[in-house]
Amino acid sequence: MTDFAALADRVLEGERLTERDARSILCTPDHELLDLVMAAGRIRRAHFGNRVKLNYLVNLKSGLCPENCHYCSQALGSAAQILKYSWLAPDEAVRQAEAGIGGGAARVCLVASGRGPMDRDIDRVSDIAVALKDRHPAVEVCACLGLLTDGQAERLRGAGVDAYNHNINTAESFHEQIVQTHTYADRVTTIGRAKDAGLSPCSGLIVGMGESPEQIVEAVFALRALESDSIPINFLVPFDGTPMQGRWHLTPAQCLRIVALVRFACPASEVRLAGGREVHLRSLQGLALHIANSIFLGDYLTAQGQAALDDLAMIRDNGFVPEGADRELATAGAPARATAPAARLRGAGTAVPPNA
Ligand code: SF4
Repeated sequence: MTDFAALADRVLEGERLTERDARSILCTPDHELLDLVMAAGRIRRAHFGNRVKLNYLVNLKSGLCPENCHYCSQALGSAAQILKYSWLAPDEAVRQAEAGIGGGAARVCLVASGRGPMDRDIDRVSDIAVALKDRHPAVEVCACLGLLTDGQAERLRGAGVDAYNHNINTAESFHEQIVQTHTYADRVTTIGRAKDAGLSPCSGLIVGMGESPEQIVEAVFALRALESDSIPINFLVPFDGTPMQGRWHLTPAQCLRIVALVRFACPASEVRLAGGREVHLRSLQGLALHIANSIFLGDYLTAQGQAALDDLAMIRDNGFVPEGADRELATAGAPARATAPAARLRGAGTAVPPNA
């Protein structure tokens, strides 16, 4: 049995998680899961207190991507029934972003499908970033536009973009099995370009694609080595029409172990519950918030999330507050759920089938 409390003490004192520790976290038996959450929660609170950072995704360009990432509904060959459109007009992008800001988002993520941006795409995103910074100086802007070429990161930084997201997604040893149109090294190069330009590196994972526990550890330790400031953890949403259709490998408990592993390995990084949290963590989403300090508000790029008001209620119910909650938020003070109780009108005493 691993003494997670002692392990958290060591991590809080600056010791680095070992591979053995990491493997033991991923093997935590169900009856010790709460001990793991409590220990990881201490690390979370030491770095982020009771704050939850809300990020808001704006999909600037959806689908029509020439790359073949097998997990992605927007990829070449994907028959997933998703929205497909080319670049949003800048004022429409700002309008969409402001919906998230009004809902409490402290960071807006401007995302576009594709292998990487052309120089004119950098201009478009720069214009959007300038407009957002002008109207909402306290809100962070992150761009996620694929592989960057020389000088593009610097131009984004010059326009006021704060961060750049480019996920490594998985272990180097598994990467070729999930995409063949670019390499793991290509991804790492882009993260380096963003970092060198002064953009805060955001890079994370997709789990549940068929990777082994050892490969999850490999990927998490790679993120630690990359010094990713924020680490989104995506739980595979296996859209019909993609090569990963039907791949439902994760359990809520295993998702929780993975989130805890990232927290222990990268104690000071923002750990973000990302796509698929609702369908994979299910009723354990609230517990996961005690480990992660950030979520995406509302919907994802191509998948629908739970209602944004339910996200905010979940944060409040678990004793946390959205980061920047001192700003005037459209949803501030909204009751968790002010719906009247519904009388039972099915089952015993009725001719309607019971709720079972
Ligand atoms: S993950 Fe990005 S690069 Fe890969 S297919 Fe999807 S949109 Fe294209």
